[in-house]
Amino acid sequence: MKTIIEPFRIKSVEPIRMTSPVQREKILRDAGYNLFLIRADDVIVDLLTDSGTGAMSSEQWAGIMRGDESYAANSFYRFQDRISELTGFDHVLPTHQGRASERILFELVGGPGKIVPNNAHFDTTRANVEHSGAAAVNLPIPEAVEPHARHPFKGNMNVESLEELIDDVGVERIPLVMVTITNNSGGGQPVSLENLRAVKKVCRHHGLPLFLDACRFAENAYFIKHREKGMSNRSIREIVREMFDLADGATISAKKDGLVNIGGLLLVRDEEMLRRASNLLILTEGFVTYGGLAGRDLEAMAQGFEEVVHDDYLAYRIRSVEYLGEKLMAAGIPILEPPGGHAIYINAAEFCPHIPRDQFPGQAVVCGLYRIGGIRSVEIGSVMFGGSTKSSDAVLTPHSKRQQTGQPLELVRLAMPRRVYTQSHIDYVIESAGELVLRRKELRGLRMIYEPPVLRHFTARFEEI
Ligand SMILES: *Cc1c(COP(=O)(O)O)cnc(C)c1O
Repeated sequence: MKTIIEPFRIKSVEPIRMTSPVQREKILRDAGYNLFLIRADDVIVDLLTDSGTGAMSSEQWAGIMRGDESYAANSFYRFQDRISELTGFDHVLPTHQGRASERILFELVGGPGKIVPNNAHFDTTRANVEHSGAAAVNLPIPEAVEPHARHPFKGNMNVESLEELIDDVGVERIPLVMVTITNNSGGGQPVSLENLRAVKKVCRHHGLPLFLDACRFAENAYFIKHREKGMSNRSIREIVREMFDLADGATISAKKDGLVNIGGLLLVRDEEMLRRASNLLILTEGFVTYGGLAGRDLEAMAQGFEEVVHDDYLAYRIRSVEYLGEKLMAAGIPILEPPGGHAIYINAAEFCPHIPRDQFPGQAVVCGLYRIGGIRSVEIGSVMFGGSTKSSDAVLTPHSKRQQTGQPLELVRLAMPRRVYTQSHIDYVIESAGELVLRRKELRGLRMIYEPPVLRHFTARFEEI
Protein backbone atom coordinates (compact mmCIF):
# COMPACT_ATOMS: atom_id res chain seq x y z
CA MET A 1 0.00 0.00 0.00
CA LYS A 2 1.21 3.49 -0.85
CA THR A 3 -0.95 5.17 1.79
CA ILE A 4 0.71 5.09 5.16
CA ILE A 5 -2.01 5.60 7.73
CA GLU A 6 -1.60 6.94 11.23
CA PRO A 7 -0.93 3.71 13.16
CA PHE A 8 -3.33 4.60 15.96
CA ARG A 9 -6.96 5.36 16.60
CA ILE A 10 -8.02 8.45 18.49
CA LYS A 11 -9.65 7.95 21.88
CA SER A 12 -9.52 11.43 23.35
CA VAL A 13 -9.68 14.66 21.38
CA GLU A 14 -8.70 18.22 22.02
CA PRO A 15 -10.77 20.80 20.13
CA ILE A 16 -9.03 23.32 17.89
CA ARG A 17 -10.46 26.83 18.08
CA MET A 18 -10.86 28.19 14.57
CA THR A 19 -10.01 31.81 13.87
CA SER A 20 -10.76 34.02 10.88
CA PRO A 21 -8.15 35.96 8.88
CA VAL A 22 -9.52 39.19 10.37
CA GLN A 23 -9.10 37.87 13.93
CA ARG A 24 -5.61 36.63 13.15
CA GLU A 25 -4.59 40.00 11.76
CA LYS A 26 -5.44 41.61 15.08
CA ILE A 27 -3.84 38.81 17.15
CA LEU A 28 -0.65 39.15 15.10
CA ARG A 29 -0.53 42.91 15.50
CA ASP A 30 -1.22 42.71 19.26
CA ALA A 31 1.63 40.20 19.64
CA GLY A 32 4.11 42.50 17.91
CA TYR A 33 4.41 39.99 15.05
CA ASN A 34 6.13 37.55 17.40
CA LEU A 35 4.45 34.15 17.48
CA PHE A 36 6.03 33.26 20.83
CA LEU A 37 3.68 35.90 22.24
CA ILE A 38 0.53 34.35 20.76
CA ARG A 39 -1.57 32.02 22.93
CA ALA A 40 -1.84 28.39 21.84
CA ASP A 41 -5.60 28.90 21.80
CA ASP A 42 -5.20 31.31 18.90
CA VAL A 43 -3.24 28.77 16.83
CA ILE A 44 -4.90 26.29 14.47
CA VAL A 45 -1.93 24.03 13.66
CA ASP A 46 0.98 24.43 16.03
CA LEU A 47 4.34 23.50 14.53
CA LEU A 48 6.44 25.61 16.89
CA THR A 49 8.22 22.64 18.39
CA ASP A 50 8.23 18.84 18.53
CA SER A 51 9.53 18.96 22.10
CA GLY A 52 7.14 17.81 24.79
CA THR A 53 4.17 18.36 22.47
CA GLY A 54 3.48 14.73 21.58
CA ALA A 55 0.39 12.67 22.38
CA MET A 56 0.71 9.77 24.80
CA SER A 57 -0.79 6.35 24.15
CA SER A 58 -3.46 4.61 26.22
CA GLU A 59 -0.70 2.41 27.68
CA GLN A 60 1.24 5.48 28.74
CA TRP A 61 -1.85 6.93 30.39
CA ALA A 62 -2.37 3.58 32.10
CA GLY A 63 1.23 3.92 33.35
CA ILE A 64 0.36 7.34 34.74
CA MET A 65 -2.28 5.66 36.92
CA ARG A 66 0.13 2.87 37.92
CA GLY A 67 2.82 5.34 38.95
CA ASP A 68 4.17 4.57 42.41
CA GLU A 69 5.01 7.75 44.28
CA SER A 70 6.93 6.23 47.19
CA TYR A 71 10.71 6.35 47.58
CA ALA A 72 12.74 3.86 45.51
CA ALA A 73 9.47 2.87 43.90
CA ASN A 74 8.84 0.10 41.44
CA SER A 75 8.18 2.71 38.76
CA PHE A 76 11.87 3.58 38.78
CA TYR A 77 12.99 -0.02 38.46
CA ARG A 78 10.59 -0.65 35.61
CA PHE A 79 11.90 2.46 33.89
CA GLN A 80 15.53 1.48 34.50
CA ASP A 81 14.98 -2.03 33.13
CA ARG A 82 13.36 -0.71 29.95
CA ILE A 83 16.16 1.78 29.31
CA SER A 84 18.89 -0.76 30.10
CA GLU A 85 17.31 -3.29 27.79
CA LEU A 86 17.11 -0.72 24.98
CA THR A 87 20.51 0.94 25.37
CA GLY A 88 22.68 -1.58 27.19
CA PHE A 89 23.52 1.03 29.84
CA ASP A 90 23.33 -0.24 33.42
CA HIS A 91 23.42 3.22 34.95
CA VAL A 92 20.34 5.30 34.19
CA LEU A 93 19.78 8.63 35.88
CA PRO A 94 16.35 10.25 35.37
CA THR A 95 16.25 14.05 35.04
CA HIS A 96 13.41 16.49 34.45
CA GLN A 97 14.54 17.21 30.90
CA GLY A 98 17.52 17.11 28.54
CA ARG A 99 19.18 20.32 29.68
CA ALA A 100 19.27 19.10 33.28
CA SER A 101 21.35 16.13 32.08
CA GLU A 102 23.57 18.52 30.13
CA ARG A 103 24.02 20.79 33.12
CA ILE A 104 25.18 17.89 35.30
CA LEU A 105 27.46 16.48 32.60
CA PHE A 106 29.23 19.74 31.82
CA GLU A 107 29.53 20.72 35.43
CA LEU A 108 31.52 17.49 35.77
CA VAL A 109 33.67 17.64 32.66
CA GLY A 110 33.54 21.27 31.44
CA GLY A 111 35.34 24.32 32.76
CA PRO A 112 37.54 27.14 31.46
CA GLY A 113 40.04 26.12 28.79
CA LYS A 114 38.09 22.99 27.84
CA ILE A 115 36.76 22.44 24.34
CA VAL A 116 33.77 20.27 23.48
CA PRO A 117 33.40 19.16 19.85
CA ASN A 118 29.99 18.15 18.50
CA ASN A 119 28.62 17.62 14.99
CA ALA A 120 26.32 20.56 15.90
CA HIS A 121 25.48 21.66 19.42
CA PHE A 122 21.84 22.14 20.18
CA ASP A 123 21.34 25.58 21.77
CA THR A 124 20.87 24.34 25.36
CA THR A 125 23.86 22.03 24.98
CA ARG A 126 26.01 24.89 23.78
CA ALA A 127 24.69 27.10 26.59
CA ASN A 128 25.56 24.50 29.23
CA VAL A 129 29.03 23.92 27.78
CA GLU A 130 29.66 27.66 27.77
CA HIS A 131 28.12 28.15 31.21
CA SER A 132 30.80 25.83 32.57
CA GLY A 133 33.44 28.07 30.99
CA ALA A 134 34.28 25.64 28.19
CA ALA A 135 34.05 26.34 24.44
CA ALA A 136 31.59 24.55 22.16
CA VAL A 137 32.85 23.71 18.67
CA ASN A 138 30.68 22.47 15.80
CA LEU A 139 32.21 20.04 13.32
CA PRO A 140 29.60 19.32 10.61
CA ILE A 141 30.44 17.90 7.21
CA PRO A 142 30.64 20.46 4.37
CA GLU A 143 27.34 19.26 2.83
CA ALA A 144 25.50 20.24 6.02
CA VAL A 145 25.65 23.92 5.11
CA GLU A 146 24.44 23.48 1.55
CA PRO A 147 20.64 23.68 1.59
CA HIS A 148 20.12 21.52 -1.49
CA ALA A 149 22.89 18.95 -1.04
CA ARG A 150 21.16 15.57 -0.86
CA HIS A 151 23.59 13.72 1.38
CA PRO A 152 21.83 10.75 3.07
CA PHE A 153 23.59 11.45 6.37
CA LYS A 154 23.94 15.19 6.44
CA GLY A 155 24.15 15.13 10.23
CA ASN A 156 27.51 13.33 10.21
CA MET A 157 30.45 14.68 12.14
CA ASN A 158 33.44 15.81 10.13
CA VAL A 159 35.97 13.20 11.26
CA GLU A 160 38.86 14.96 9.56
CA SER A 161 38.07 18.23 11.38
CA LEU A 162 37.82 16.29 14.65
CA GLU A 163 41.32 14.92 14.17
CA GLU A 164 42.59 18.38 13.20
CA LEU A 165 41.02 19.88 16.30
CA ILE A 166 42.55 17.26 18.58
CA ASP A 167 45.97 17.86 16.99
CA ASP A 168 45.53 21.64 17.24
CA VAL A 169 44.42 22.02 20.84
CA GLY A 170 45.72 18.84 22.45
CA VAL A 171 43.77 15.95 23.85
CA GLU A 172 43.97 17.19 27.48
CA ARG A 173 41.69 20.12 26.67
CA ILE A 174 38.94 17.91 25.26
CA PRO A 175 36.91 16.20 28.01
CA LEU A 176 34.69 14.30 25.60
CA VAL A 177 33.40 14.21 22.04
CA MET A 178 29.66 14.59 21.55
CA VAL A 179 27.52 13.52 18.60
CA THR A 180 23.93 14.75 18.30
CA ILE A 181 21.50 12.21 16.77
CA THR A 182 19.70 13.35 14.80
CA ASN A 183 21.38 16.66 14.26
CA ASN A 184 18.65 19.05 15.42
CA SER A 185 20.33 22.37 14.63
CA GLY A 186 21.34 21.01 11.24
CA GLY A 187 17.76 20.27 10.20
CA GLY A 188 17.02 16.94 11.89
CA GLN A 189 19.52 15.21 9.64
CA PRO A 190 20.74 11.74 10.62
CA VAL A 191 24.20 10.43 11.48
CA SER A 192 25.27 7.11 9.94
CA LEU A 193 26.56 4.15 11.92
CA GLU A 194 29.65 4.28 9.73
CA ASN A 195 30.27 7.85 10.89
CA LEU A 196 29.64 6.97 14.54
CA ARG A 197 32.09 4.09 14.24
CA ALA A 198 34.69 6.38 12.64
CA VAL A 199 34.25 8.99 15.40
CA LYS A 200 34.53 6.22 18.00
CA LYS A 201 37.78 5.04 16.40
CA VAL A 202 39.29 8.52 16.73
CA CYS A 203 38.03 8.74 20.33
CA ARG A 204 39.44 5.34 21.20
CA HIS A 205 42.79 6.22 19.64
CA HIS A 206 43.04 9.34 21.82
CA GLY A 207 41.44 7.88 24.92
CA LEU A 208 38.45 10.26 24.69
CA PRO A 209 34.93 9.35 25.81
CA LEU A 210 32.18 9.53 23.19
CA PHE A 211 28.83 10.90 24.35
CA LEU A 212 25.60 10.97 22.40
CA ASP A 213 23.03 13.73 22.55
CA ALA A 214 20.46 11.07 21.78
CA CYS A 215 17.15 12.97 21.86
CA ARG A 216 16.05 11.50 18.51
CA PHE A 217 17.87 8.17 18.60
CA ALA A 218 14.89 6.22 17.19
CA GLU A 219 14.40 8.55 14.23
CA ASN A 220 18.15 8.31 13.59
CA ALA A 221 18.00 4.49 13.71
CA TYR A 222 15.14 4.49 11.19
CA PHE A 223 17.23 6.53 8.73
CA ILE A 224 20.15 4.13 9.22
CA LYS A 225 17.94 1.13 8.53
CA HIS A 226 16.56 2.65 5.35
CA ARG A 227 19.55 4.57 3.98
CA GLU A 228 22.72 2.86 5.09
CA LYS A 229 24.23 -0.02 3.15
CA GLY A 230 23.78 -3.43 4.75
CA MET A 231 21.32 -2.20 7.38
CA SER A 232 17.91 -2.98 5.88
CA ASN A 233 17.71 -6.44 7.45
CA ARG A 234 18.58 -5.31 10.95
CA SER A 235 15.89 -4.41 13.43
CA ILE A 236 15.52 -0.89 14.79
CA ARG A 237 16.35 -2.25 18.23
CA GLU A 238 19.61 -3.77 16.97
CA ILE A 239 20.62 -0.52 15.35
CA VAL A 240 19.68 1.50 18.44
CA ARG A 241 21.74 -0.90 20.54
CA GLU A 242 24.79 -0.56 18.31
CA MET A 243 24.60 3.26 18.43
CA PHE A 244 24.53 3.19 22.22
CA ASP A 245 27.20 0.44 22.39
CA LEU A 246 29.58 2.86 20.68
CA ALA A 247 28.98 5.49 23.37
CA ASP A 248 30.41 5.98 26.84
CA GLY A 249 27.44 8.07 27.87
CA ALA A 250 24.41 9.97 26.64
CA THR A 251 22.15 12.87 27.47
CA ILE A 252 18.54 12.48 26.33
CA SER A 253 15.49 14.69 26.38
CA ALA A 254 12.54 12.31 26.66
CA LYS A 255 10.32 15.11 25.32
CA LYS A 256 11.31 13.96 21.84
CA ASP A 257 11.71 10.22 21.24
CA GLY A 258 10.65 9.39 24.81
CA LEU A 259 7.12 10.28 23.63
CA VAL A 260 6.35 12.12 26.87
CA ASN A 261 5.65 15.73 27.77
CA ILE A 262 8.40 15.99 30.37
CA GLY A 263 11.46 13.93 31.28
CA GLY A 264 15.09 13.28 30.51
CA LEU A 265 17.97 10.88 31.08
CA LEU A 266 21.66 10.82 31.72
CA LEU A 267 23.44 7.59 30.85
CA VAL A 268 27.03 6.88 31.90
CA ARG A 269 29.23 3.79 32.05
CA ASP A 270 32.03 5.03 34.26
CA GLU A 271 31.43 4.25 37.97
CA GLU A 272 33.29 7.30 39.22
CA MET A 273 31.35 9.56 36.89
CA LEU A 274 28.10 7.94 37.97
CA ARG A 275 28.93 8.65 41.61
CA ARG A 276 29.70 12.31 40.91
CA ALA A 277 26.70 12.78 38.62
CA SER A 278 24.42 11.19 41.23
CA ASN A 279 25.63 13.66 43.84
CA LEU A 280 24.83 16.60 41.59
CA LEU A 281 21.47 15.09 40.70
CA ILE A 282 20.57 14.78 44.37
CA LEU A 283 21.73 18.34 44.97
CA THR A 284 19.49 20.01 42.40
CA GLU A 285 17.04 17.57 40.83
CA GLY A 286 16.07 14.89 43.31
CA PHE A 287 17.08 11.42 44.46
CA VAL A 288 18.57 9.03 41.89
CA THR A 289 15.31 7.08 41.64
CA TYR A 290 13.22 10.00 40.41
CA GLY A 291 15.45 12.91 39.36
CA GLY A 292 12.86 15.66 39.72
CA LEU A 293 10.03 13.63 38.21
CA ALA A 294 7.02 11.85 39.65
CA GLY A 295 6.80 8.07 39.62
CA ARG A 296 4.03 8.36 37.06
CA ASP A 297 6.35 10.26 34.71
CA LEU A 298 8.84 7.38 34.86
CA GLU A 299 6.07 4.94 33.93
CA ALA A 300 5.06 7.07 30.94
CA MET A 301 8.70 7.33 29.84
CA ALA A 302 9.31 3.58 30.19
CA GLN A 303 6.37 2.93 27.88
CA GLY A 304 7.29 5.77 25.48
CA PHE A 305 10.79 4.42 24.92
CA GLU A 306 9.17 1.09 24.08
CA GLU A 307 6.66 2.47 21.56
CA VAL A 308 9.09 4.75 19.77
CA VAL A 309 11.14 1.89 18.32
CA HIS A 310 8.12 0.22 16.70
CA ASP A 311 8.52 0.01 12.91
CA ASP A 312 4.96 1.15 12.19
CA TYR A 313 5.34 4.21 14.35
CA LEU A 314 8.66 5.21 12.80
CA ALA A 315 7.50 4.59 9.21
CA TYR A 316 4.50 6.87 9.85
CA ARG A 317 6.61 9.43 11.66
CA ILE A 318 9.37 9.81 9.09
CA ARG A 319 7.01 9.55 6.15
CA SER A 320 4.69 12.26 7.42
CA VAL A 321 7.56 14.73 7.75
CA GLU A 322 8.85 13.72 4.32
CA TYR A 323 5.33 14.10 2.85
CA LEU A 324 5.13 17.68 4.08
CA GLY A 325 8.59 18.40 2.65
CA GLU A 326 7.81 16.90 -0.76
CA LYS A 327 4.54 18.79 -1.11
CA LEU A 328 6.10 22.09 -0.09
CA MET A 329 8.83 21.63 -2.69
CA ALA A 330 6.24 20.72 -5.31
CA ALA A 331 4.43 23.97 -4.45
CA GLY A 332 7.65 25.88 -5.14
CA ILE A 333 8.83 26.42 -1.60
CA PRO A 334 12.57 25.90 -1.13
CA ILE A 335 13.39 23.74 1.89
CA LEU A 336 16.51 22.27 3.41
CA GLU A 337 16.97 18.99 1.59
CA PRO A 338 16.46 16.17 2.17
CA PRO A 339 13.59 16.40 4.71
CA GLY A 340 14.79 15.67 8.23
CA GLY A 341 13.28 13.44 10.88
CA HIS A 342 11.25 15.84 12.96
CA ALA A 343 10.88 19.06 11.02
CA ILE A 344 10.90 20.80 7.66
CA TYR A 345 12.96 23.96 7.31
CA ILE A 346 11.86 26.52 4.73
CA ASN A 347 14.70 28.53 3.24
CA ALA A 348 13.14 31.98 3.61
CA ALA A 349 15.98 33.96 2.03
CA GLU A 350 15.46 31.97 -1.16
CA PHE A 351 11.67 32.08 -0.87
CA CYS A 352 11.37 35.86 -0.55
CA PRO A 353 14.55 37.37 -1.99
CA HIS A 354 12.86 40.79 -2.08
CA ILE A 355 13.22 41.02 1.71
CA PRO A 356 16.76 41.88 2.82
CA ARG A 357 18.33 39.93 5.65
CA ASP A 358 18.13 42.87 8.07
CA GLN A 359 14.36 42.92 7.57
CA PHE A 360 14.03 39.30 8.73
CA PRO A 361 12.69 37.29 5.76
CA GLY A 362 12.18 34.26 8.03
CA GLN A 363 9.94 36.21 10.38
CA ALA A 364 7.99 37.51 7.38
CA VAL A 365 7.26 33.93 6.30
CA VAL A 366 6.31 32.97 9.87
CA CYS A 367 3.80 35.85 9.90
CA GLY A 368 2.55 34.92 6.42
CA LEU A 369 1.78 31.33 7.45
CA TYR A 370 -0.07 32.54 10.53
CA ARG A 371 -2.12 35.07 8.58
CA ILE A 372 -3.16 32.59 5.94
CA GLY A 373 -3.80 29.49 8.02
CA GLY A 374 -3.28 30.20 11.72
CA ILE A 375 -0.16 28.04 11.53
CA ARG A 376 2.57 28.61 14.09
CA SER A 377 6.15 28.07 12.95
CA VAL A 378 9.41 29.52 14.19
CA GLU A 379 12.12 31.65 12.64
CA ILE A 380 15.63 30.24 12.88
CA GLY A 381 17.84 32.91 11.42
CA SER A 382 18.68 36.55 11.98
CA VAL A 383 16.01 37.09 14.65
CA MET A 384 17.25 34.15 16.69
CA PHE A 385 20.95 34.44 16.02
CA GLY A 386 21.56 37.99 14.90
CA GLY A 387 21.85 41.12 16.96
CA SER A 388 23.80 41.16 20.18
CA THR A 389 24.47 37.42 20.28
CA LYS A 390 27.44 36.01 18.44
CA SER A 391 26.22 35.41 14.93
CA SER A 392 29.07 32.97 14.32
CA ASP A 393 27.27 30.65 16.74
CA ALA A 394 24.40 30.40 14.37
CA VAL A 395 22.80 27.32 13.18
CA LEU A 396 24.71 25.46 10.50
CA THR A 397 27.77 27.63 10.83
CA PRO A 398 30.62 25.16 11.07
CA HIS A 399 33.96 25.35 12.77
CA SER A 400 36.02 25.33 9.65
CA LYS A 401 38.59 27.57 8.07
CA ARG A 402 36.83 27.01 4.77
CA GLN A 403 33.47 28.52 5.62
CA GLN A 404 33.39 31.46 7.98
CA THR A 405 30.61 33.59 6.61
CA GLY A 406 29.38 34.24 10.15
CA GLN A 407 25.90 34.54 8.72
CA PRO A 408 23.08 32.21 9.61
CA LEU A 409 20.75 30.76 7.03
CA GLU A 410 17.34 32.43 7.12
CA LEU A 411 15.12 29.48 7.99
CA VAL A 412 11.58 28.82 9.13
CA ARG A 413 11.10 25.57 11.00
CA LEU A 414 7.91 23.55 10.85
CA ALA A 415 8.39 21.03 13.66
CA MET A 416 6.06 18.06 13.80
CA PRO A 417 4.61 17.08 17.17
CA ARG A 418 4.46 13.29 17.57
CA ARG A 419 1.08 11.55 16.99
CA VAL A 420 -0.83 14.84 17.29
CA TYR A 421 -1.87 15.82 13.78
CA THR A 422 -3.42 13.72 11.04
CA GLN A 423 -2.76 13.89 7.33
CA SER A 424 -5.62 16.34 6.79
CA HIS A 425 -4.00 18.78 9.21
CA ILE A 426 -0.81 18.50 7.20
CA ASP A 427 -2.74 18.90 3.93
CA TYR A 428 -4.15 22.09 5.39
CA VAL A 429 -0.62 23.32 6.13
CA ILE A 430 0.37 22.45 2.56
CA GLU A 431 -2.63 24.31 1.14
CA SER A 432 -1.81 27.37 3.27
CA ALA A 433 1.79 27.28 2.10
CA GLY A 434 0.59 27.01 -1.51
CA GLU A 435 -1.45 30.17 -0.97
CA LEU A 436 1.60 31.85 0.50
CA VAL A 437 3.55 31.05 -2.69
CA LEU A 438 0.97 32.91 -4.75
CA ARG A 439 1.14 35.89 -2.42
CA ARG A 440 4.82 35.90 -1.63
CA LYS A 441 5.32 39.33 -3.22
CA GLU A 442 2.97 40.71 -0.55
CA LEU A 443 5.24 39.51 2.25
CA ARG A 444 6.79 42.48 3.96
CA GLY A 445 9.99 42.85 5.92
CA LEU A 446 9.94 43.70 9.61
CA ARG A 447 11.63 46.18 11.87
CA MET A 448 12.43 45.19 15.45
CA ILE A 449 11.00 47.82 17.75
CA TYR A 450 11.76 46.09 21.06
CA GLU A 451 14.78 43.92 21.69
CA PRO A 452 15.51 42.33 25.09
CA PRO A 453 19.18 41.95 26.05
CA VAL A 454 19.33 38.14 25.78
CA LEU A 455 17.47 35.45 23.81
CA ARG A 456 15.67 38.16 21.95
CA HIS A 457 13.51 35.94 19.78
CA PHE A 458 11.23 35.02 22.71
CA THR A 459 10.04 38.53 23.52
CA ALA A 460 11.11 40.83 20.69
CA ARG A 461 8.41 42.97 19.08
CA PHE A 462 8.23 44.02 15.44
CA GLU A 463 6.37 46.25 13.08
CA GLU A 464 5.91 45.71 9.36
CA ILE A 465 7.80 47.87 6.92
C1 LIG B 1 15.56 19.35 23.00
C2 LIG B 1 16.99 19.07 22.88
C3 LIG B 1 17.85 19.21 23.97
C4 LIG B 1 17.41 19.79 25.30
O1 LIG B 1 16.40 19.07 25.88
P1 LIG B 1 15.26 19.79 26.77
O2 LIG B 1 14.40 18.63 27.20
O3 LIG B 1 14.57 20.77 25.92
O4 LIG B 1 15.94 20.40 27.93
C5 LIG B 1 19.17 18.89 23.77
N1 LIG B 1 19.63 18.46 22.59
C6 LIG B 1 18.84 18.30 21.52
C7 LIG B 1 19.39 17.81 20.24
C8 LIG B 1 17.49 18.60 21.62
O5 LIG B 1 16.70 18.47 20.55
